Amino acid sequence: MLEPAAVDALFRPDLPETDHWERRYPPRRLPEGAEVTRFAPSPTGHLHIGGLYTAAVSRALARQSGGVHLLRVEDTDQARRVAGAAAAFVRQLTAFGLPPDEGGTDGGDWGPYLQSDRGDVYLSHIRALMRQGRAYPCFCDRGRLARITEEQRASRSPLGYYGRWALCRTLTPEQAADRVRSGEPYVVRFRCPPGLPGRVRFEDRIRGSVTTQDNGNDVVLLKSSQDQLPLPTYHLAHVVDDHLMRVTLVVRGEEWLSSTPLHLQLHTALGFGRPAYAHLAPLMKAEGGNRRKLSKRKDPEASVDFYLTAGYPPAAVQHYLRGLANARLMDAPTHEALAARLRTADMSPAGPLLDLPKLRSISRESIAGLAAAEVYRQLCNWAAEFDAELHQVLVRRAELAHSAIAVSRNAAGHPRKDLVRWSDFRDRYGFFFPELFGPVPAPDDARFGALSPDLVRRVAADFAARYTHPDTPASWLGGLRDLAERHGFAPDTRAHRLAPSRYAGPTGEVVNVVRVCLTGSARSPDLFEVVRVLGRDEVLRRLAVG
Ligand code: GLU
Repeated sequence: MLEPAAVDALFRPDLPETDHWERRYPPRRLPEGAEVTRFAPSPTGHLHIGGLYTAAVSRALARQSGGVHLLRVEDTDQARRVAGAAAAFVRQLTAFGLPPDEGGTDGGDWGPYLQSDRGDVYLSHIRALMRQGRAYPCFCDRGRLARITEEQRASRSPLGYYGRWALCRTLTPEQAADRVRSGEPYVVRFRCPPGLPGRVRFEDRIRGSVTTQDNGNDVVLLKSSQDQLPLPTYHLAHVVDDHLMRVTLVVRGEEWLSSTPLHLQLHTALGFGRPAYAHLAPLMKAEGGNRRKLSKRKDPEASVDFYLTAGYPPAAVQHYLRGLANARLMDAPTHEALAARLRTADMSPAGPLLDLPKLRSISRESIAGLAAAEVYRQLCNWAAEFDAELHQVLVRRAELAHSAIAVSRNAAGHPRKDLVRWSDFRDRYGFFFPELFGPVPAPDDARFGALSPDLVRRVAADFAARYTHPDTPASWLGGLRDLAERHGFAPDTRAHRLAPSRYAGPTGEVVNVVRVCLTGSARSPDLFEVVRVLGRDEVLRRLAVG
């Protein structure tokens, strides 16, 4: 350890005292019970579904309590720094309707929110710990640390810097000062409480009371003194930030549970109060009969790009993520699931299963419940980014698009449920748009079923020749019935059932010719509504088979 004066000599003389930061970042004025939460990703550039899940839960817990949710980018590990990470996170979170209230790129009163911009804040606190002897310079180089690890492995001792291996912990002030003065490089380590670590108990909002081995390791707080701008480690930086950003509830992945005893020691050594913790269990995937953690490397659905590219609506993804956290919300209607409070007590310490069929069904129901104008709006947003040709068509033919989307949309009791994601739109609704319809099928096309090409051609030509654009469903059905009769097909299903041998086939075969001509598919929404949207000229154009 060093004498206080020797400590001060290590830092810029004008480095503010910790009090300065306490005043600069005052406690927030929020209603009683309001939680301040944060999403604190490292800037690896890519958001994963686990990160989105953490952000969604953490944001919901803050907002439902009348509090604040902030985004802080933890980029103290410069090797992994990615330019524009904050903007990329904000963009991705916003795409799912989960933008932060504070931080990210817009800033806020408790910022900056990029750790690499907060160097002085950390240095002030490291100096304070060093003055009290709670942190000390360590001169052990890589080689020495590697030897320590080897010895510990050989003697089956826990790995770390502690006990008889922690040589620099017991340097006298003079020894330490001499080595600093001679220019030896050093890092700054935390001096953890003396003695063998016992057990520590803390509360976790999800797991209840957690009792575990306390921290007995003098971890590094400040990386190499040789750097121009020495940066702290994650452990020190996030404790200082959570305190000064006045975070009340730390929601993060379970992988941090084992570091929590160290974080609590740091909070105490720095004289800070403790935040509450909620460690989320990792998302799992079913494989064979087993469950395993979702893998960023192996599973495409681990990346949020998977959901963005496919065009799952933000509300459906939010609903699904809430359902993973609180299973009771999974089967609720989307608007209820989004309005409900999340309960940490209902979150399981076992990881929820990422189940794409469930997401698909939520998404299908959620889209079915949207008004046509909202479908159009969200679809255009998606297409603008992921399908430029479709976007152009939607904009150029906005009126047609609205009418197409409205077909059977609000049918009482039977809204259309043919869209799971926006990328399904082309396949299900593309035929409405001449630009996307493609060529009129040839008469021998397999979609016409068993009818001979000659009959297909005759049926289509005859229907076109006598076509009157229908005003009512009844006049449309009448036209189809007459068409069937003229070509020897049964006029309706019942007639065919009673005497199949009297007819060339069931009505459906003739209707199928019309359907394939008009929609390019043997399955379509109600044809009367389709022809109303297409208009007479386009109907006739499509009946001109081969
Ligand atoms: N920056 C850490 C990480 O992503 C966050 C841990 C925390 O939330 O405290 O992985």
